[in-house]
Amino acid sequence: MPAPANVATGVHLVRVPMPAGGLPYSLAYLLEDAEGGVHVIDPGSPSPETLPLLANALGALGHALADVRTILVTHLHADHAGAAGALRAATGARILMHERERDALAADVAASVGGAGVRRRDAETVDGWGVPPERRPELLALPSLPIAGVAAPDATLADGELLALPGLRLRAFWTPGHTGGHLCFDDEERGLLFTGDHVLPTVNSGLGLGGAEFDPIGDYLRSLLRVAALDRRALPGHEEPFDRLAERCAELAEHHLRRAREARDALRSRPDATVWQVAEGMTWTGGWAALAGFALRSALAQTAMHRAFVRSGAPIAW
Ligand SMILES: [Zn+2]
Repeated sequence: MPAPANVATGVHLVRVPMPAGGLPYSLAYLLEDAEGGVHVIDPGSPSPETLPLLANALGALGHALADVRTILVTHLHADHAGAAGALRAATGARILMHERERDALAADVAASVGGAGVRRRDAETVDGWGVPPERRPELLALPSLPIAGVAAPDATLADGELLALPGLRLRAFWTPGHTGGHLCFDDEERGLLFTGDHVLPTVNSGLGLGGAEFDPIGDYLRSLLRVAALDRRALPGHEEPFDRLAERCAELAEHHLRRAREARDALRSRPDATVWQVAEGMTWTGGWAALAGFALRSALAQTAMHRAFVRSGAPIAW
């Protein structure tokens, strides 16, 4: 196992493999405080290897699992928060996240009882998109989003809240978009921003992936604007730490504005167009006809958000 990488004084990065695929690993961060305690940001996937990997990383820094005091969660996805419950059980540390993530987890648990609620929810979503009957089965056969099984928090964090950790100033920064309760963590003194999946250096994170959401596109554009105003080195939840945070925020905003303009143009010629009909008229890598299964569901989900954003009448600007 590789030793954790030091990214700043008292801040260490651990690459945690993602058995579910997609990206090769998530990034967990270990923050040492002034009293021998350690605080973990996004412990990673719920695989049996995660806890030994974190224990090993702590050992390489001269710490034990028992030194872990706090588990900070940027958002409820299993590749970030999936190991939080096991880490809490092994350490007694407290899990902290935004209240919207707590509520979304509770709603997911409620809907998952017997599986019927999730199937009904998925069917309603697919019907609301105006999917032709012959394409329904492939969408309904897909598994639901991977948030099931993530541990409930011990306490929640509000936007702007300063965490009281010995010798550390870490502020919770609410950045809804990827999920409704996504948090970045701002280390003002060291000029670091832990960005979770809000801003990644090259990957474009999907939006609205945290259960019931109100306005993911508008939320995300506003969250990008707030983060772009900070002069920080970005420590993301995947890939590698990066500078040029403001530039990356602008790229991501422009991507969504471009999609919103496409949706607006489709709705101009056909104001009653369903999500399916709007998506047909948008540009897709590899073409619309080639989209199937998970990629098709993702394309429709993203189109639904851009269509709703346009129909809300919000200015398509950043
Ligand atoms: Zn995520």
